[in-house]
Amino acid sequence: MTTTTNTHLGPQPREVFNRIPGYKPGRKADRPEIAPLASNESHHEPLPSVREVIANEAQRINRYPDAAVVDLHARIAERYGVNDDQVATGPGSIGVLQQIIATYCAPGDEVVFAWRSFEAYPLLVDIAGAKPIMVPLLADERHDLDGIAAAITDRTRVVLLCTPNNPTGVSLSHGEVVEFLDKVPEHILVVIDEAYIEYETAEDAVDSLALIAERPNVLTLRTFSKAYGLAGLRVGYAISTGEIIGSLRKAALPFSVNSLAQRAAIASLDADDELAARAAEVVGERERVVAALQGTDWRVLPSQANFIWVRADGERGAKLAKAFDDADILTRVFPDDGIRITLADAASNDRVLKVLKDAASTE
Ligand SMILES: *Cc1c(COP(=O)(O)O)cnc(C)c1O
Repeated sequence: MTTTTNTHLGPQPREVFNRIPGYKPGRKADRPEIAPLASNESHHEPLPSVREVIANEAQRINRYPDAAVVDLHARIAERYGVNDDQVATGPGSIGVLQQIIATYCAPGDEVVFAWRSFEAYPLLVDIAGAKPIMVPLLADERHDLDGIAAAITDRTRVVLLCTPNNPTGVSLSHGEVVEFLDKVPEHILVVIDEAYIEYETAEDAVDSLALIAERPNVLTLRTFSKAYGLAGLRVGYAISTGEIIGSLRKAALPFSVNSLAQRAAIASLDADDELAARAAEVVGERERVVAALQGTDWRVLPSQANFIWVRADGERGAKLAKAFDDADILTRVFPDDGIRITLADAASNDRVLKVLKDAASTE
């Protein structure tokens, strides 16, 4: 028997995979002096109470996790004053978003969202065989909600709003989202991705739970990866109507929220006050950093998240990216747009300020 080595005869992925960029690993934070500010993680160490439940649960990892995630769903429901059947979980909110798209989008259906926004959106939509419809942000970094409403067609099944928006840090107001929802047909699901809600301090911030109580087509997507400090365990959740959540739960890969993550998420909700204090510390640093950058050449808008966004493209952006790299600070660089820098402890934030101030004065 002969074997063929002609790869053209082998399995070919769907056409869309020609467009999907492969994952490119970034620089590693493999020395203590490197500040890992590229992924919006919490810089705080895991809480002792959370580590303890993980250690205890580790005794039982020969067993499958609770496939129905009963205890965690109940704990999230209690925390937010909704029914248990209004909560779905997944391996990170990215995992929940994949369930959402699998539930509502057939191949060729459209998902509309602002751009630039979270990198995972076009990827998840493409993998599902649906079509990403990206509506550029306005010049002041805000979502173009009129443009998003105008981009809705017969094929639209889902709209994604990201507030505060990653990577720009700008958030939507409750009033503008209500006005937007009034224009969206009720058969279209509007997902409000609130991954950074714990850092939001705007008085007119979106009250997504109120919207969910009043409307049949709103869902909030949240995560334990950011302010709750569990990025490595992968657990996120959605709150919506019982109908929507019932469908989403069917789309979940069985056992995808592991037992350590389920226990750690419950323990984190039990430690809400401690975690809120940590988030408040980051918010204080955010206000300090943004204030220190006013009057410099960098355009840094007030942020509602745990990161700042520096608009800098072309050569200016490349020079700034190199300055951060030379200073052993890992950031998220979007070459055509700008640089996103996660806020951490005061010492790291001071290093960030120094790079920005030095780079501004040498231009
Ligand atoms: C970080 C982030 C998430 C969270 O992803 P997980 O899968 O929960 O870790 C979701 N949405 C946005 C906009 C984010 O920035």
